[in-house]
Amino acid sequence: MFENKTKNQKDFLKFPVKSDVWDIVEYTSNLFIEAIKTKASDIHIEPTGEYVNIRFRESWDFIYVDKISHDEYAKLISRIKIMSNLRIDEKQRPQDWKIPFKYDKIDENVDIRVSIIPVIDWEKVVMRVLVQDFSLLDLDKLSFLDVNKSKIKESLKSKFWLILVAWPTWSWKSTTLFSMLKHFNPLDFNITTLEDPVEYNMPNVNQTQVRKDIWFDFAQWLRSLVRQDPDIIMVWEIRDKETAMLAIEAALTWHLVLSTIHTNSASATIQRLINMWIEPFLISSAVKLIVSQRLVKKNCEKCLGAYHLNESAIINKVSNYLWNIIEEKVEDINFYKWTWCEECSNTWYRWRIWVHEVLVVTEDLDSLILNKAPAFEIEEKAKELWMITIMQDWLLKSATWKTTIDEVMKLI
Ligand SMILES: [Zn+2]
Repeated sequence: MFENKTKNQKDFLKFPVKSDVWDIVEYTSNLFIEAIKTKASDIHIEPTGEYVNIRFRESWDFIYVDKISHDEYAKLISRIKIMSNLRIDEKQRPQDWKIPFKYDKIDENVDIRVSIIPVIDWEKVVMRVLVQDFSLLDLDKLSFLDVNKSKIKESLKSKFWLILVAWPTWSWKSTTLFSMLKHFNPLDFNITTLEDPVEYNMPNVNQTQVRKDIWFDFAQWLRSLVRQDPDIIMVWEIRDKETAMLAIEAALTWHLVLSTIHTNSASATIQRLINMWIEPFLISSAVKLIVSQRLVKKNCEKCLGAYHLNESAIINKVSNYLWNIIEEKVEDINFYKWTWCEECSNTWYRWRIWVHEVLVVTEDLDSLILNKAPAFEIEEKAKELWMITIMQDWLLKSATWKTTIDEVMKLI
């Protein structure tokens, strides 16, 4: 049904607008199936003056999938609202909920998380495709360097402390967080979570969904939790001082607390907590480990080829990133680069790997934290203590056949 889809906007402009009478129930299912098959992470439905765009997000790229008329859009949006139990007549306020989707040709259970926001004259729909594939939730499958994986597993042995996943937008933090949770047998521990939204349904884990509509938020929930005798607590996100303080207090009273925070690096996470007016001594006593991560494109096995850096300016920059972890000269390193073949540019085969940095907050960092040192100073010290930064991990992975150096070069 979507055989014309394209990455190229010019081709998309030539798409005919679908305005025949078609079966909206079948169309909606096919749209979900296509997104699942192509491993798209999001489906965007965007009204414009003349027609309505349907695009998928695959990795960072938008793929143009279809163009429909406004009449068809009205039917489609009603269908989506019915499937997700949202009010059809509500067009002024944002609405969100999820659709459990099961189709016999697809093995996995999939949740489609729907978000609808009013834009001028219309409503814009974005649907996140969440494949309930528990086999992915495994620290061994998240492309951690061995050294980083051991640091995490070691920290998870502790019965208390706060472990944070720092995430820039679009880094699939939940996969890492749930992989850490899955490391524990829920029959041996009381594991309890507060999520927004609940993405994976974990057997024997007490999962609670944040209910903003009844003003039941992270902080209120954390207070009630003390009476639930938990061992491991997962708080979906630390957004404010109150939640941060409660998470820290829980960690300091013999609970293992896992959470996430919206920052770009491990060192910036410490600074973020300081900026939330958390006392530095509480940060250094409670926070044990910070994992920062980013998603990057996985290699294309068809066209990935060896590549040596040859421009001196680039060689200098890469040397500045890698000087403390490599012995050979950067110009001698065998990096890998795509030549962009049919497979990776035209045929929708996309998958991703993570690059990480894992900071163990040891006593060596105490004086910097207590003196509210800036993030770059914490990062320099962490490098002395053998933390591999995200950029270093990314360069290492493009030197070991895992990804293309093209992508990391854009940021250097
Ligand atoms: Zn390729």
